[in-house]
Amino acid sequence: MNIISKDETEEITKDVFNKYKDYYNPMLARLLKFSSYDRVEWKARGSVVTDLSGKKFIDCGGGYGVFNMGHSHPKIIQAVKDQLDLMPLSPRVFLSKPLADLAELLARITPGDLKYSFFCNSGTEAVEGAIKLARLSTKKTEIIAAINAFHGKTLGSLSFSGRDIYKTPFEPLVGDVKHVPFGDVDAIRNAITQKTAAVLLEPIQGEGGIIIPPDDYLPEVRRICDENNALLILDEIQTGMGRTGKNFACEHFGVVPDIMTLAKALGGGVMPIGAFIGTQKVWEAFAPNPLIHTSTFGGNPLACVAAKAALEVLIEEDLAVKSKELGDYLIGKLSDIKLKYPEYIADVRGIGLMIGVEFASEGIGGIVIPSMVKDGVTAIYTLNNPKVIRFEPPLVISKEQLDRVVDSFKKALDEVKTKYSHLFK
Ligand code: PLP
Repeated sequence: MNIISKDETEEITKDVFNKYKDYYNPMLARLLKFSSYDRVEWKARGSVVTDLSGKKFIDCGGGYGVFNMGHSHPKIIQAVKDQLDLMPLSPRVFLSKPLADLAELLARITPGDLKYSFFCNSGTEAVEGAIKLARLSTKKTEIIAAINAFHGKTLGSLSFSGRDIYKTPFEPLVGDVKHVPFGDVDAIRNAITQKTAAVLLEPIQGEGGIIIPPDDYLPEVRRICDENNALLILDEIQTGMGRTGKNFACEHFGVVPDIMTLAKALGGGVMPIGAFIGTQKVWEAFAPNPLIHTSTFGGNPLACVAAKAALEVLIEEDLAVKSKELGDYLIGKLSDIKLKYPEYIADVRGIGLMIGVEFASEGIGGIVIPSMVKDGVTAIYTLNNPKVIRFEPPLVISKEQLDRVVDSFKKALDEVKTKYSHLFK
């Protein structure tokens, strides 16, 4: 059933599109049109986003890792509504119960001796804060990061990210950064010096194209950091909160970082919030000046109650276990499709519901994604690897919905084969 009439839908869609073109981001408007994403989103529940016309889409992009708990989870929405009536934002002079409760719960849920939290509003801010803390704590400056890493787009985080097209136009960036190939222990061993403050890594690279390192990589990096008095910072902004089949991806490898960054799904798909969490030892560096790192909106009551409810949902609904089961199911189905289209699909890989399909050439994703969107399924690119598209649906998705996704992906590949095979010879 249409939410509004067809004519009204068309009129509003045209108006919104033109405002994007005239007042927001003309190139993005064109890109959205090209990908068939030029429709107005209206409502979202669970794993389904509905547009203005009433057309439903299974959300396999999952907001790039935001909607682990699904869209508009009732428990999280209720927590935010209740807090909205009490006090939406904090005057930042008194003690805040939502903030204190969230900090305690995070200390309990995160692995090992991670204990103290700082709250901010986004992933990139969490990375900025983690790096500042690492520099303060070690009194050193050098950071080792990975090629093709993604840590955000503010100047600091961009400096640690690993793809030049996003970085070069803004140089000079933050200095004293070395980039090494991801997954290569020897590269870290060769790069690290007594001047290294921290090694900053995603446990599994997301925007780099869903890259899972060898099993012994992170444990070895942990050891090398310890030997060189350098900290290990793990960026779990995309991998955290159950996405990979564990609450936090570092748990697959039995590794506890000195500092962990979180954002995206931490807000339960309802509020924006980021955090970095560190051990007591590292946090001591903040002790002499409690105001050395601050944020006006970071840790606001609405975001904190959303995050606390999101963590509770993660545990109560066993989302990490679901992610593993459903991820194995989807990887199996996608791998079957790979066997049918070896000329177009180079690889299917993933862990939990963090899954990438690598095409044999770059242009294939540009046909597959719009075809799936027209068929009512959203899928997304990875920022640092144009050959790879991602499936990161809400962890509450059903097997039936995944079957629909697989069917749609298969239809899209049929379209590549029947209409566009000449382009990929
Ligand atoms: N770190 C990782 C691993 C990410 O995937 C992202 C976003 O995609 C970020 C940091 C940046 O987060 P935000 O866009 O909230 O600044």
